[in-house]
Amino acid sequence: MKVPLLDLQAQYAGIENEVMAAVSEVLKTQRCIGGPKVAELEEKIAAASNCKIAVGVSSGTDAILNVLMSLDIGPGDEVITTPFTFFATVGCIARTGARPVFVDIDPKTYNIDPSLIEEKISDKTKAIMPVHLFGQMADMDPITEIAKKHALPVIEDAAQSITSRYKDKTAGSIGTAGCFSFFPSKNLGGIGDGGMIVTNDEEFYEKLAIMRNHGSKPKYYHKLVGGNFRLDPIQAAALLVKLPHLDEWSKARRKNAKYYNSRFSGTDIQTPYINPDCVTIYNQYVIRAAKRDELMSHLKENQIGCEIYYPAPIHLQECFSSLGYKQGDFPNAEEAANEVLALPVYPELTDEMKDYVADTVLSFGSGD
Ligand SMILES: *Cc1c(COP(=O)(O)O)cnc(C)c1O
Repeated sequence: MKVPLLDLQAQYAGIENEVMAAVSEVLKTQRCIGGPKVAELEEKIAAASNCKIAVGVSSGTDAILNVLMSLDIGPGDEVITTPFTFFATVGCIARTGARPVFVDIDPKTYNIDPSLIEEKISDKTKAIMPVHLFGQMADMDPITEIAKKHALPVIEDAAQSITSRYKDKTAGSIGTAGCFSFFPSKNLGGIGDGGMIVTNDEEFYEKLAIMRNHGSKPKYYHKLVGGNFRLDPIQAAALLVKLPHLDEWSKARRKNAKYYNSRFSGTDIQTPYINPDCVTIYNQYVIRAAKRDELMSHLKENQIGCEIYYPAPIHLQECFSSLGYKQGDFPNAEEAANEVLALPVYPELTDEMKDYVADTVLSFGSGD
């Protein structure tokens, strides 16, 4: 049996007619920039995130970049974040000219360890950017408390965690701003690139909206230097078709995870730890195994899609060698990079597929 890590064709098969109709509607009007679909999606994502207001943008990366630029972060500044994330989190900090300052992760959740943040705050610190990795939110109460104490904005990189929950809060609604990605492999994925920023601060919203469009207001007059960070209405149209399915898809992912958890309990396979304060959306189901690379080969030989998120922590990336970080600086992130493996958890997995994945994982090392 063949089980891919993710099967977007299976998802598309159920919504093809609606997506085609929605895209066609945009094309007929030839409102190819902005327009009602973008506005409708902004409203609905804000509501789904329990936020006042949202700004559709061109990608999750541009969501983060726009927020950093709108906070006037630049050369000489520092932004605190995790080294165990997708590159974009840190790439955006570096592109503003600011210095990324890393804090190691909690080895159980893979999210930034709040107890290590305060010692990294200096008079140059301008923001804290936790990442809600794999669908589970970071431990936001202590992060918010530290940020308040030092009057720092919190930027939630929620690219992998749209509608995920922490206590009575939704991802993106706790910090100054939350950033979402609609990259096709995210839980709410477009038919190309897209992203969204959510906020409860209406004044900040104004600035984000102006920065999205070259800092222009009124048209052709620029008080600020922004970028072209606009969300494509064709993406908005497709996303509006998908959004009503998101909760049912997240439930199916949790059900699949629960099945794997029961199959792996009492074995050497370490299943994902979910903070009891959190409801995850399982963007990834990530196990840990000491012989991870051999297990990965075993799964691939048996036609099971799996992937390492992420094989190299960001502080050890070549492009950041000038920051002066070295091996051993963030042991929890480094150890995770050597042991994690994501298994297929997408909603359309059949019982047979889940069985096959679990059987194949468990047969590793048993000689068959
Ligand atoms: C996907 C992702 C991004 C970037 O989103 P894009 O839409 O691909 O630009 C940023 N941060 C994290 C944690 C991500 O997973």
